[in-house]
Amino acid sequence: MIKLTNIRKSFGKQEVLRGINLTVDKGDVVAILGPSGSGKTTLLRCVNFLEKPGEGQVTIGDFAVDCKHPGKRDILKLRRKTAMVFQHYNLFRHKTVLENVMEGLIIAQKVPKDEARARSLAVLDKVGLSEKIDAYPSQLSGGQQQRVGIARALALNPEVILFDEPTSALDPELVGEVLAVIRSIAREGVTMIIVTHEMTFAREVASQVVFMDGGVIVEQGEPEELFTRPKEERTRQFLKRIT
Ligand code: ATP
Repeated sequence: MIKLTNIRKSFGKQEVLRGINLTVDKGDVVAILGPSGSGKTTLLRCVNFLEKPGEGQVTIGDFAVDCKHPGKRDILKLRRKTAMVFQHYNLFRHKTVLENVMEGLIIAQKVPKDEARARSLAVLDKVGLSEKIDAYPSQLSGGQQQRVGIARALALNPEVILFDEPTSALDPELVGEVLAVIRSIAREGVTMIIVTHEMTFAREVASQVVFMDGGVIVEQGEPEELFTRPKEERTRQFLKRIT
C-alpha cells in the first residue's frame, strides 16, 4: 500500500500541491488526470522524493517518511521501493538495452551479475524486446526505448511503478505498443500510478482515476463512475474539453 498524507509542495511562492491525501492499494492502477500545471507530475515525483515535499508523509508498505525531516537513508530506502518510467525514457545512451536493464539491479540492488542478466532477459521478453538486447538506444524507435524504460522499472520488482506521461513524447503511431505493454503488466497485478493524458487508456486500464486541479484532488473514483457521472463541476468541464 502507498499512502500520501497531507502532501504540500511549493516552488518559491507558488504552492503547487495543497494538501494531497491519496491511498493506493496493492495491485491498484491509479491514473492521475488534470489540466496542464495542476501538479500531477510534481505529485508523482513527491512519492519517491525526486521532489522533496514541504510537508506531509509518504508511506510505502510499512515504511513511512516524514517530509519535513527526511533522513538521507530514509529517502534511499523509499526510492528502492519504487521505480519510475520517465516521459523521455532517460536511458543510458552508451549502454545496450540489456545493460540498461541490468544496471539498476547490479548497482542499486546489488544483485549478482548472472542473476541480474537472467531477470533482465525475462522482463525484456515480457515487453517484446528479446531481439533487441544488444542494440543501443539510438538504434531503437521511441516506442522501443520506452519499452526498455518499462522493462528497467519492472526488473527492479518495486512495490510501485510511477509512470510520468509515458507516451507523451511518442509519435502517435508508437503510442499503442507502449500502452499495450503497460496494460499487460497491469493485468499481472503490478501496482502503478500513471500520470497520463490518454483518457481512453485511463478509462480502460485504471482501477482508480484521480482528477487534480490547482494542486488539489478534486475528485477520485472508479473510471466508469468518474467519466460518466462526475460529481464535481470542475471535473465535468475538464472532461467536456478533452473528450
Ligand atoms: P503538465 O500536464 O503540463 O505536465 P502537471 O499537472 O504535471 O502539468 P506540474 O509539472 O506538476 O504540472 O507543474 C505544476 C506547477 O509547478 C506548474 O506551474 C509548473 O510550472 C511548476 N513547477 C513544476 N516544477 C517546477 C520546478 N522545478 N521549479 C519551479 N516550478 C515548477
